[in-house]
Amino acid sequence: MSALDALRRSRTRSAVPDAGRPEGRHLLEVSGLTTRFDTPAGLVHAVNSVDFHVDRAEIVGVVGESGCGKSVTIRSILGLVRPPGRVVDGTARFNGVDLLALSGAELRRLRGKEIGFIAQNPFSALNPVMRIRRQFAKIMAAHGVRSEGEAHDRARAALADVGIAGPDRVLDGYAHQLSGGMAQRVVIAMAMLLNPTFVIADEPTTGLDLTVQRQILDLIRAMVKEHERSMLLVTHDLGVVAQYCDRVVVMYAGQVIEHGTVREVLGTPGHPYTQALIRAIPRPGQPLVHLTGRLPDLVDYPAGCPFQARCPHAFDPCARVVPEPVTTASGHTYRCHLPQEKEAVR
Ligand code: SF4
Repeated sequence: MSALDALRRSRTRSAVPDAGRPEGRHLLEVSGLTTRFDTPAGLVHAVNSVDFHVDRAEIVGVVGESGCGKSVTIRSILGLVRPPGRVVDGTARFNGVDLLALSGAELRRLRGKEIGFIAQNPFSALNPVMRIRRQFAKIMAAHGVRSEGEAHDRARAALADVGIAGPDRVLDGYAHQLSGGMAQRVVIAMAMLLNPTFVIADEPTTGLDLTVQRQILDLIRAMVKEHERSMLLVTHDLGVVAQYCDRVVVMYAGQVIEHGTVREVLGTPGHPYTQALIRAIPRPGQPLVHLTGRLPDLVDYPAGCPFQARCPHAFDPCARVVPEPVTTASGHTYRCHLPQEKEAVR
């Protein structure tokens, strides 16, 4: 029985409303997710009523500038937000089970077994004073693999799967003896060790040089696609989204301001912020068009549209009225008052 099945059985119907429906419409369905941070400067509106979903066997990108709420959203879903942060509202249903209603122990059982997490910085994910072999063994012991021989074989196989040629040397070493690219391969091997159906990768190539970035992203995509896993890939790079994702969620100031298939969102972006991100992608022979201005103050959160101070199209209602989502027949959705855009869609 999987960890998720065990959870479903252990929970009452009221605690897990979808307990009788093991196969939900979406693999992950996030709804109304809201996270706040209590700080001396005031209440930070880090994540604001975020909705999105991930289907089976698809890769969904979450994109936006630094500080737009991507990583806090992911950490909220995984139960990794620490005080002074707290999730104050919403649900995150994974295969019908609301992750936000689970205890810390229940979530830890799911992470690794059902959900693999690849963190931004491999050196913070790895224990600096424990041999890599021991770290693999601990993960497996937490999920019932107690035999030293089996743990060793599975760790070697996992390292071979991520392209590490001398697994024994890596297993006998420590994190500080690895290059950035090798360390991230080890973290990917750990994330895939228990064969999760869903992988969350939070800016997995931060700090790596360009060639290694591509190698790591190619590797993650291959491991996801080969086993028909699903993945949520957090990135600030629309080029990465274009190359590796099926659908994309664009975040700004802790809100989802546009989502749809990569073809729709990058081909016919509805929101001026998405349009600005696309213009900022480097193209041979063309000047870079940088987005000027800053994200709004998340303590003194603006009324109306959060993008108003940077938007070249802002007009009267933008400062007063929160834009309602505009959705096309295919499900491409964005939040903007622009009347010409609304007339353009059905
Ligand atoms: Fe710009 Fe107004 Fe649309 Fe916001 S709602 S993106 S400020 S035009």
